[in-house]
Amino acid sequence: MRLSVAEARQRVLELGRSRRLPDESIGLEAAFGRVLAADVVAPHDQPPFANSAMDGFALRGSDLPAEGERRFRLAGQVFAGAASAPDCGEGECVRITTGAPLPRGTDTVVVKENVRLDGDTVVVGAGEAAGANVRPSGEDYRSGEIALHGGDRLTAARLGVLASLGGAAANVVRVPRVALFVTGDELVPPSQPLGFGQIHDSNRYSLGALLRQAGVEPGIVAHLRDDPDELRAALRDAGECCDLILSSGGVSAGEADFLPGLVAELGRVHFWKVRMKPGMPLLCGEIGRALVFSLPGNPVSTIATFLAFVRPALDALQGVTEPPRRWRARLAAPLIKRHDRAEFLRASLESGDDGTLRATPLRKQGSGMLRGVAEADALIFVPEDVHELQAGHVVDVLPLPGLS
Ligand code: AMP
Ligand code: MG
Repeated sequence: MRLSVAEARQRVLELGRSRRLPDESIGLEAAFGRVLAADVVAPHDQPPFANSAMDGFALRGSDLPAEGERRFRLAGQVFAGAASAPDCGEGECVRITTGAPLPRGTDTVVVKENVRLDGDTVVVGAGEAAGANVRPSGEDYRSGEIALHGGDRLTAARLGVLASLGGAAANVVRVPRVALFVTGDELVPPSQPLGFGQIHDSNRYSLGALLRQAGVEPGIVAHLRDDPDELRAALRDAGECCDLILSSGGVSAGEADFLPGLVAELGRVHFWKVRMKPGMPLLCGEIGRALVFSLPGNPVSTIATFLAFVRPALDALQGVTEPPRRWRARLAAPLIKRHDRAEFLRASLESGDDGTLRATPLRKQGSGMLRGVAEADALIFVPEDVHELQAGHVVDVLPLPGLS
């Protein structure tokens, strides 16, 4: 039985989660894009001390004049990073810079543009608010609070949180070790001239880029001929050292399509063929300790099946808990689907002045035509049971990586 896209995706997520990779500790410089292995609890308040949000003068809010002006004696100064801060008594103020600790006794900062200096006296007018321009300690994170969650991917800002809480290293999940095989006797590298019946191998580069975008640098990259012995040896070796084997081509039911038989022989097939277009021949299995994704060789099928299944598998292997973000757009034109499979249609996306994201299906939709994806911003997902949609209908879209 061929699985639906939803069934296949569920299966992939279960397989990935059940093979969640081990933790490792890495320096913060290398942690961008990695997935946290466990919750991070704030070991101290952030900010660690009450400090000034502006350059100005720290004073007691209760000293502020309700009307007219009041003169404050300048008791000293405290700059960010100073070893200590002067005390501040009633009727006094302290010159302060942004990020400097509030002197004992003060609770308010008046910005420097709002005061007048008169020798050692600072003149403050009415209208200033008590407690203004102060960042209380623990305003951002309280000591003991969960600041980041296991399964969170470290974005630039989350990395900043980790550093601000004094995390010298990040406890993350190991990145999957991946083998990338492009298969086909007709393939030659882009650098070689084409002989009779040959084409340049493009999937190696598209898949390599998609992997890299997902934070994975494949450890093995090879072109394999449509030869069962060559394929068998490469698959078996990769099954011993990799967490995931990704192949393109040779997975349909043609004379030279050896992948399904070999995966069954060397390991196990979890499912073969998904009710989708393009990408129907997709196979998911395992060999040794590696999860196997054999993607169809058609360049568009390759990209669509990677985005729909391999990317979620890479996330699941790393324990990502955030569900993939759901993007929705309104169809800018009607569409008709003349088959019963789900379809991933190439589309351009436009964010209109009214704040609506609009998706326009592109004309070139052949699964062998790279132009269709090259000119697209996203894939529109059309469910199995939907055959016709009017303009304005809201659809799910899968943004193509690398555009933003
Ligand atoms: P296959 O899945 O092996 O039946 O291949 C389907 C189509 O994709 C054929 O036209 C292949 O020539 C083409 N193809 C397979 N692998 C690649 C590749 N790495 N780069 C570009 N086209 C490919
Ligand atoms: Mg082939």
